[in-house]
Amino acid sequence: MLDKKVQSYKKKERIPGVTPAKYKEEFPFLKEVDSFALCNVQLQLEKAFKDHFRNRKQFKLPKFKKKRDKQSYTTNNTHNSIRVDFVKGLLYLPKLREGVKIELHRSFDGKIKSVTVSKTNDGKYFASILVETENRRNKVIESKSKACGMDLGLEHFVTVTNDFGNYKVEHPKYLLKAEERLRRLQRSLSRKQKDSKNSEKARLRLARQHAYISNARNDFLHKLSKAIIDENQVVVVEDINVKGLLKTRLAKSIADSGWSKFLTYLKYKAEWYGRTFIQVDRFFPSSKLCHRCGYKNEVLELHDRTWCCPKCGETHDRDVNASINLYYVGLGRAEVKPVERALVDDRSPHGLPKKPSRVETGSSTEKD
Ligand SMILES: [Zn+2]
Repeated sequence: MLDKKVQSYKKKERIPGVTPAKYKEEFPFLKEVDSFALCNVQLQLEKAFKDHFRNRKQFKLPKFKKKRDKQSYTTNNTHNSIRVDFVKGLLYLPKLREGVKIELHRSFDGKIKSVTVSKTNDGKYFASILVETENRRNKVIESKSKACGMDLGLEHFVTVTNDFGNYKVEHPKYLLKAEERLRRLQRSLSRKQKDSKNSEKARLRLARQHAYISNARNDFLHKLSKAIIDENQVVVVEDINVKGLLKTRLAKSIADSGWSKFLTYLKYKAEWYGRTFIQVDRFFPSSKLCHRCGYKNEVLELHDRTWCCPKCGETHDRDVNASINLYYVGLGRAEVKPVERALVDDRSPHGLPKKPSRVETGSSTEKD
């Protein structure tokens, strides 16, 4: 179907609508699979072409997939053609007489709409089941902290300030180790002769490692974002220009750290659990403002990890200071517009975290 469409496209002819039925005589194996699977492919193909003509820049012309890429098919449920036996751990699919043994990650109730079976390029099979159900989420926990400010960093994954103080979350060690192994496997694959048996083995090892890292990172990001959403009523982060940063030298560590995924998770989890998620303006100087007196340090550089406020004498850990400023935005969000001015003028010491810091003296020269 794709070939037919692409051929007409290249000859600048009108692109024909094609249906799987036309090919069943020529390719008898098409009769072995259920018709929904074929129908869904046809729908996806139509959509791919429609998207392409709507926006050629974003949606390239569809092309054939490599056999090694992720493979999948989707089928729909009619008259109970798809069922799950939770006790025996079996999934029943159309055209298969026997149930497929599955490892169930969790139980569900509701009406099964469709199933997508996929095979990853590291050779594992997954079935994703779409179920119609009432809007059920995990239990909403009452937040313990009114607000929290988060500074995403490269050295530490995130620095958090909330009603109880501040803490830093490190990049997980197992991920750093796994990335090291990934680099070893990449080198190993590049040394193998192309299309040899050993290169195929190395490719599979590499694909498995990629899958492991991606799963482990998602797990980390999901658990951390859930914990933060559970604990805080208002969550404030910087609007980091991820795309812009990706063009800089920091690109690798940013892409690896999963910042954008983390923000996406926070955003939708906030919606699910009735929390407020605020991303402050990109130009809000969260790192440059002294959280204590509002002084703006114009000469702060990216590599300055600590700095001392010339006005009030407070010594700042760069990340902690930024997260405190964001926390203040979360506390006084009603007046935050424009954000920057609200922060400098309307700061109140009300409800701030207790810090083991010096008492304000008004002297700008006092230091330890
Ligand atoms: Zn200051």
